[in-house]
Amino acid sequence: MNLQKFERYPLTFGKTPIDYLPRLSKEINGNLQIYAKRDDCNSGLAFGGNKLRKLEYIVPDAIASGADTLVSIGGVQSNHTRMVAATAAKIGMKCRLVQEKWVPHFDGVYDRVGNILLTRLMGADSRLVEDGFDIGIRKSYEEAIQSVKDEGGKPYGIPAGASVHKYGGLGYVGFAEEVREQEKELGFKFDYFIVCVVTGSTQAGMIVGFAEDNRADRVIGIDASGTYEQTRAQVKQIVDNTAEMVELGRKVRDDEIVIISDYAYPAYGVPSEETNEAIRLAAKTEALITDPVYEGKSMQGLIDLAKKNFFPERSKILYAHLGGAPALNGYSYYYKDG
Ligand SMILES: *Cc1c(COP(=O)(O)O)cnc(C)c1O
Repeated sequence: MNLQKFERYPLTFGKTPIDYLPRLSKEINGNLQIYAKRDDCNSGLAFGGNKLRKLEYIVPDAIASGADTLVSIGGVQSNHTRMVAATAAKIGMKCRLVQEKWVPHFDGVYDRVGNILLTRLMGADSRLVEDGFDIGIRKSYEEAIQSVKDEGGKPYGIPAGASVHKYGGLGYVGFAEEVREQEKELGFKFDYFIVCVVTGSTQAGMIVGFAEDNRADRVIGIDASGTYEQTRAQVKQIVDNTAEMVELGRKVRDDEIVIISDYAYPAYGVPSEETNEAIRLAAKTEALITDPVYEGKSMQGLIDLAKKNFFPERSKILYAHLGGAPALNGYSYYYKDG
């Protein structure tokens, strides 16, 4: 496998820490050891998160293209568009964003707090539109790119979640390589990895990265999109493209792509009561802050699978914490009593 041949523009601090979570482990299944890899605090840029790992491999191409404006798309409380705005500010480009009504959640301050507040603060031109949830390439995205051209600018488009970009999967191949190095220092290997999946390139990169030592099927994707078929198809496409680019040397089989769709209800961006319980438990036992859109759902999945004995006894599990806490501000009423 060859990741080194790709240029990387540093936006993160470097290796992210792996924390043991003894109180959470004990609470949900005393026979398991649960750890978190803290990609939620991977950078000093606007609270960081998984999108920065991906963007590190995309920025060199954006700069080489001669662009002056990064263009991207997401929901109103998108972490991804926050990270694109941060990247644009950091590298001295402009930023044009389309933020769609992906989430049937109604809160008086939803479009003024959390991610979108930070996004505006960093100078991005963020435009709210009415379209609903879809992880694919959207008309509004194409129009945003065109609008920059019409104004004489030079746009560089980054699709939703930086996922269907040709370099979108590389960052999380790097995550797997980093974990392998950390496993040497720790003196043990993880048996399972838990990761939230929506637009797909985080899990896809991890699958390719862990295919190197035949652990791809130990990457358990917890779907939070609520559109399982489309997400799975997108993960597969990114896996195939990324495996070829990094010269994995073999095809990743279908049965090596594991995505569990049981926790995405009731809808993308809307937490179930079980999601909220998972968020509270992680916060109360470990001060580990997860959000109602993404990490709360993968935390819910981890807790439920552990309680159902999905993992053999004494398994060591690494929960990939991908960020997202700023969105909590748009959901304050759920947590008014803790
Ligand atoms: C984007 C995001 C995810 C999902 O990652 P994908 O690569 O889109 O599948 C999970 N958690 C957080 C906090 C995110 O911002």
